[in-house]
Amino acid sequence: MRILLLTLACLWSGLSLNAQSRSAQKKVIKLMGCRFEVTAIADNDTIAWQAINTGIAEIERIERLISSWDRQSQTSAINRQAGIAPVSVDQELYDLIFRAKKISKLTQGAFDISFASMDRIWRFDGSMETMPTPEQIQKARQFINWEKVLLDRQNLTVFLQEKGMKIGFGAIGKGYAANRAKQLMQNIPGVHGGLVNASGDLICWGESHQPEGWTVKVADPKDKHKVLGWLQIADMSVVTSGDYERFVQFEGKRYAHIIDPRTGYPTTGIKSVTLVCPDAELADALATSVFVLGYDAGLNLINQLNGVECLIVTDDDELLSSKHLQLNYY
Ligand code: AMP
Ligand code: MG
Repeated sequence: MRILLLTLACLWSGLSLNAQSRSAQKKVIKLMGCRFEVTAIADNDTIAWQAINTGIAEIERIERLISSWDRQSQTSAINRQAGIAPVSVDQELYDLIFRAKKISKLTQGAFDISFASMDRIWRFDGSMETMPTPEQIQKARQFINWEKVLLDRQNLTVFLQEKGMKIGFGAIGKGYAANRAKQLMQNIPGVHGGLVNASGDLICWGESHQPEGWTVKVADPKDKHKVLGWLQIADMSVVTSGDYERFVQFEGKRYAHIIDPRTGYPTTGIKSVTLVCPDAELADALATSVFVLGYDAGLNLINQLNGVECLIVTDDDELLSSKHLQLNYY
């Protein structure tokens, strides 16, 4: 059975009002190179739209800070100055990198924002024509080392110790942006709930537009209208990393966009990981980490973390879940 896992955002049943006659509004917009859905449940339409626009502005602001494509971003400056000089950054970017390094430590380097040096070798934008040689891979791999991402708290600088190093937030940025958008939206008086969904990486809180609350459906991609199961969540984040999102194929073998820093090769063994925990940034980072760690070590790690659950689909289409995950079946 070939099962891929897709996280569908809580299916939207029109902009209907719920029992308390709230306004429920949603906007779909392309941000950070992916499709975002921002939903607000509020006292009235004006407040709901104010919340949505606030969330979107925040995501755009974060994109300008962390993008490695935008040459003006602080992240690009750090990468340009690799091996040359420390770069002064905002406290916010400093803190994000600090937390990313904590995840690297927790995952023994499976998660590593300095994976990005490999994007000179592995490109998942359709531009690769030949498989990189083992020599090229070995050479590029040497530049992945989160311990050489040096942080100076006093001077608020970041320094990539070696020329050739590069950082990227592809595995954590959407989660961080979703967290921040949620926080700002939540603080607006008259907002009672909402959802920020970044192409399947989502966080929701408070009231839903549906009486049963927020549900996240897990679909069988063989037939996207068929639902494998669903999660009933409240104030929770659900993030899915999948090998079907971006990949290249050589001689019939599929290479996914998540890199194992230990080998420099794309990960194998897992098709998708769905991570459930209250914090979208952590969920995002851990979903990618489990991919790299593989299902045994990955499940072992998740089972040791309080309040964090995951569902894994292996390459053999086996479904594996952490100890306390409550996936509901019809
Ligand atoms: P996600 O969809 O959250 O799993 O993120 C995948 C993205 O994370 C990739 O497209 C890369 O930009 C980035 N990435 C790949 N490998 C790693 C890694 N080992 N650690 C951190 N980020 C990674
Ligand atoms: Mg991730």
